Formats: sequence, structure tokens, C-alpha cells
Amino acid sequence: MKSNNQHIPWKLSTNFNHQRHLFYNKVDTDYIIETYICTCGHKNFIVSNAHQELDYVCEECANTKFYDANLAWTNMPHFISTNEELDVKFQYTFSEDEEKITADYSLTIPTDIDFLQEEIFYDERAVCSVVLSADGIVDEIYLLMFDREDISGIDNYQCPNDEILKILNANLLDYIKKNGCFGIHDSRKNDFTLAHVHFFLQHQNLKDFDFYYWNDVDYLNEGEWSIESALLNLLNRRTEKSLKKAINMNYAKQRKESNTFYANFIGVFTVHIEDVNILRECLGLEFDADTYRSIGGSLHRLVGFFKRHYTDKQILNFFKGITTVRDSELLRDSINQYSYLQDTIENDFNKVKCNLDAIHDELLRCAIEIKREESVDVKLSYIDKELAYCHIIDAYEVLLPQNGQDLFDWANTLRNCLTGYLDNIKNKYTIIYGFFLMERYSLLLKSTRER
Ligand SMILES: [Zn+2]
Repeated sequence: MKSNNQHIPWKLSTNFNHQRHLFYNKVDTDYIIETYICTCGHKNFIVSNAHQELDYVCEECANTKFYDANLAWTNMPHFISTNEELDVKFQYTFSEDEEKITADYSLTIPTDIDFLQEEIFYDERAVCSVVLSADGIVDEIYLLMFDREDISGIDNYQCPNDEILKILNANLLDYIKKNGCFGIHDSRKNDFTLAHVHFFLQHQNLKDFDFYYWNDVDYLNEGEWSIESALLNLLNRRTEKSLKKAINMNYAKQRKESNTFYANFIGVFTVHIEDVNILRECLGLEFDADTYRSIGGSLHRLVGFFKRHYTDKQILNFFKGITTVRDSELLRDSINQYSYLQDTIENDFNKVKCNLDAIHDELLRCAIEIKREESVDVKLSYIDKELAYCHIIDAYEVLLPQNGQDLFDWANTLRNCLTGYLDNIKNKYTIIYGFFLMERYSLLLKSTRER
């Protein structure tokens, strides 16, 4: 590659003996040729001793700064890190084949000189590349090529900064849009990014741009889908017009509230709620983004459980009661508790009022009960030094739990999470003393046990 329009002043050192020059008949020497290529267009060739440092000044423009082309060739990372002030206009070159597109961030560096013609040859050196494959995998590759005699640059190597990657990604995106790579064309959306390209290459059966904002599309892996057909699918074969309208409104609302669409939220209700008016109301419920997020796949199972104990109307009222951040935390906690309990809860569950607080407390009680059944027989043992504290201190009697049952009785009285410590006590990580004063309890938790 030839270029005479350089914006970087270069210094290229070449060995005298390796050049096509006018002095064929000369004997081997230690001399090298320093070629100074200034941005003003002036070139100068200086034959010098290899061990001699020159303070070269351009005769035309008095420039004194020339960049070391040899270093750029042999150790680009080192070159970049030692020339951070260098305002390099890097080139972006693209190569495309059937499987991938590559955008290179590269620098044009002088590589060879024809001294006879005073002609300088340049070549490109890639610093880093962003590669997008047809299946949507984006790779960033930094080329680390070092001169075998100088690998010290590895220690100094810094990955290209975010700004460079940002520009490179933008250029790659631009190239993809302009050239319609992989069948992706400019979507006329301002926020069309490389992440969108990545997403749609991985989900080529999703035909609408807005699928990018769906929380979960994995269940749409077969067949082709538009937003319209995917929303209809969520109706679960329900055909009422009012429900179609409710789903469309819910979709718009969710997108507005959280920018994300949680399809699962709709599926839960269309599967479980039969009454059309109540279902329409369920789909009209408004939650904040955190609540939508917390309604994961397990909500299906919790609502399925509700169906065995409560009416559609009661279930609707349960969800109507979720209005604050604390409510959405309680809901998330209840969903988790139910996932843990689901096989055994039918034996233990006492039908309580169908509101968030009552359900949450009852699920928690069931979880504690199950844990108690598993743990009552666990025996706890102590060494003499630990037992030595078990006597009357002031107005308190100090006791150690002797088994899981003790710990559960204490936890019940205190209404706290004490039981979670059973394993830690058994494994001798933690010790818990009970201080008993009349009917009141206080506890001292000693976290490390001596063995
Ligand atoms: Zn100059």
C-alpha cells in the first residue's frame, strides 16, 4: 500500500545492508538509514551509526517529534502506551465473509523504502478488531504481536480504551446497516445498536424490532413471530375481544413503565383466571418495574396454588393489594417460599385470608414447620468451656439449646429467624446462648466457637 497523505510524522530505521540503494558495492557496515517522514511533506534520509541518537529537526517546518515506526511494527501495544498523546486518526477497515464481519482498528505505518525512487511504502497494522459472527456472537480481539527479542510490552499492554471500542462498534454497526449484512437493514430506529444486531442474529424468527424489549423470548423459539401474534399467543386460546384489547393496553403500559415487557405476567393470569371480567381487571393492574421483575416463572405455581383455595375474585384482590416497594418484596419472598414448599404445603397450609400479609405469614409458618420437622431430632453438643457460662447471671438463667426442638421453641417465642442457625451451631461455627428472664427472652450470639 502506498500513501503520501500521512498525518503522523514517522521515523523509520532500516539496515543499510538490507536496502536497495545506490551503494551496492559497499562492504557490510554497522550503519543504518534513518528516514524522517514529516507531515509537512518533507522527507530526509540520514545514514547514521546504529548507536547514535539524533536530535533531528525538520528543515521545512521545525517539527522535532517523530514516531518510531519500528516500535509500532514490533510492539504496537507498547507503542500505543508510550505515545498516549498521539492523536492518531486510526482507520477502520472491514472484511466480510459469509460467517462474520470484522472491523479493524488499525494504523498505517511506513514499512519499507525504495531509496532509488525515494518512495515510501506503508502497510496497515490492526490494533484491535471487533468481530460479529452470523450467529450473533460479538468478539473483541486485541492483536498482541511482539518482537521475540522484546516481549516487555506484554507487561505494559493496556487494552484499547472504551472510547476506541465505542467508535469501533459504532463503525461496525454503520457498516452493517449500510451494507445490509446478514439481512439486517437500518430499522429507522434511533436506538438501533450493536446489541440489537446481536439479539436479532440470535433470534432470527422474531420479526419485530420491539421483541428486543421482551424479558423472555426463549419460549418463542419455534416458528416465526410478530408482536401481534406473540401477544395473541399469550391469550391462551381465549377469544374475547375485550381481552385482546386488555393485553394490548397492558403491553403499552409495561413498556412505558419499565421499558421491558414481562410476558409471563400476562400468561399467569390467562392460564389461571377463568372469569372474563376478572381476567380483564387482572390484565389492567399496574405495577412498578420492580414488581414486574419479581414476577418470575414461579408465580405460575403460586397462582396455581391459589386456584385450589381461593376464587378468581379473591386472587384479583390479592394482586390489587400490591402497591408499595415493601409489597413487591413480600410478593417476591412469598413466591420463593412457595417454590421451596410446593410439594408438601397442602398438608400444612391453613386457609388464611387471601391478602399479601396473611399469605406471606402463612407460607413462612409452613416453611418453618417443615424445617422444624426436619430438625427437631438434631442433637447439639458443647465443650465444657462453653457449658461453663450456663448458670444464673444477675436476673437471668443462661441456657444452651440442646437440640433442634429447643431452637425452634425459642424462635417461635421470639418470632425470628433463629432456626436458620441450626446447621451453624451443629457444625460448631456459631453458638447461641439464651438469657431467660421471667417470660422475656434476650439472646447473645457468639459467632466463633473455640474447638
Ligand atoms: Zn516538516
